[in-house]
Amino acid sequence: MIEKGESLLIGKFVRVPADKLKDFVIKVLEKLNVPREDAEITADVLVRADLRGIESHGVARLRRYVDGIKNGVVKTKPNIRIVLETPVSALVDGDYGLGQVIAYKAMKIAIEKAKKNYVGLVGVKNSNHFGIAGYYALMAVEEDMIGLTLTNTRPLVAPTYGKKKVIGTNPIALAVPTKGEPFVLDMATSVAPSGKLEVAKRLGEEVPEGWGIDPEGKITRDPDMISKGALLPLGGLGEELGGHKGYGLSMAVDILSGILTGANFGPYVGQTQGPTPANVGHFFAAVRVDAFMPVEEFKERMSKYIEILKKTEKIPGAEEIYIPGEKSAFTEKVRKEKGVALDLKTVDMLKKTAEELGVPFDLA
Ligand code: NDP
Repeated sequence: MIEKGESLLIGKFVRVPADKLKDFVIKVLEKLNVPREDAEITADVLVRADLRGIESHGVARLRRYVDGIKNGVVKTKPNIRIVLETPVSALVDGDYGLGQVIAYKAMKIAIEKAKKNYVGLVGVKNSNHFGIAGYYALMAVEEDMIGLTLTNTRPLVAPTYGKKKVIGTNPIALAVPTKGEPFVLDMATSVAPSGKLEVAKRLGEEVPEGWGIDPEGKITRDPDMISKGALLPLGGLGEELGGHKGYGLSMAVDILSGILTGANFGPYVGQTQGPTPANVGHFFAAVRVDAFMPVEEFKERMSKYIEILKKTEKIPGAEEIYIPGEKSAFTEKVRKEKGVALDLKTVDMLKKTAEELGVPFDLA
C-alpha cells in the first residue's frame, strides 16, 4: 500500500531495516580501509537519504564511492584541515576524502563558530559528492540554528539557451527550526537531479517532459538521451517558465562553493569515481536564531507562518498543502518503523559489491 508521504515507487521496492542497512554500508567501507568513525558518518548520511525517501541519493550511490576509493581518487584516511580561518569563517581542505565525512566535519566547524560568534561560514575545497545537502543543514537545526548547505556537482545541466552540460545540479538546502518538524528546503537547482534520472533508468521508465534535452537540444523523456544531452535548470527550457532563474541559482551555488573556495567549478568538477580527483566544493552556514530574536519567539512566528500556508484554500483535487521537509519527515517516521525501501537493482548492486569485497550480504 502506498502511504501518504511514501515513495510512489514503493511497489518495486523491498523493505530493509535501516540499522541493518547502515551496518552493511559500514562493513563495506571498513573493508576498504575507511576508519570506523568515518564509515559510520557516511553510512548515516546515505541511509538517512533512504529513510527520508530520497532514494536518488541513498545507498544506491555506494558503488560510486567504492569505485572512487578503488580507483585511488577518494582517500580513505584524508588529512581534512582548516587552511584559512577568521572568528566567523573557515576554509577547509578536504584532501579528497569521502564527501560525507568532509561535509560533516565542515558543518561541525560552522556550528562551533556560530556557538561562539553567532555565525559560522565554512567553505570547502578538494571534496567529493556528499549525498543529500539537507543532512548537514539539519545538523544546525539540532542546535537551534538555521543551517545552509550548498555544493557544486559535476557538469550535468545546460545553461539557458545552451545545449551542452557545463554546470552542476548544484543543490541548496536551508533548514530552519520550528516548534514541530523543521522546515527543510533541500533541492537541486535543476528541474531534477541526476539521481532521479538514474532511478528512472534503473526502473526502465521515461521521465516527465521538461527534465532534459538530447544532444541536439531537443526536449526528450528518454533518461539515456538526457544523460547524453543535458538536464535543464529549474524552470526548464528557455525563459518562459523561469529557466533563467534556475540557471542563475545554479551559478550562485557554484560561485560560493566552487569559485570562492578554490575548488573546481562548472565543467571542471570531476566525478567521485574518477578518473581524476573531483575537487568538489561546498559551502556551509550556521546562524544562531538568537542573534536576531529569542529562539522561542522565532519558533512561534514560524508556526504561525506554517499554519497560514497550510490553511490556504486549495486548488480543486488537492488534498493538502505541504511545507518543505514535511513529507520527508513523515517518510522517515514510517521507514524507521517499517524499514527503508530499496529497488531491486540497488539490492543487486549491493550484493555484487558485497561478493566482490568479501562482505557478508544479509539484506535480501
Ligand atoms: P525534490 O524536488 O524532491 O524536493 C525539493 C524540496 O521541495 C524538498 O525540500 C521537499 O520537501 C520540497 N517539497 C516537495 N514537495 C513539496 C510540496 N508539495 N510543497 C512544498 N515543498 C515540497 O528535491 P530534488 O529532487 O531537487 O533533490 C533531491 C535530493 O538530491 C536533495 O536531497 C538534494 O540535496 C540532493 N542532491 C544532491 C546533489 C549532490 O551532488 N550531492 C546534487 C543534486 C541534488 P520534502 O523532502 O519534505 O518532500
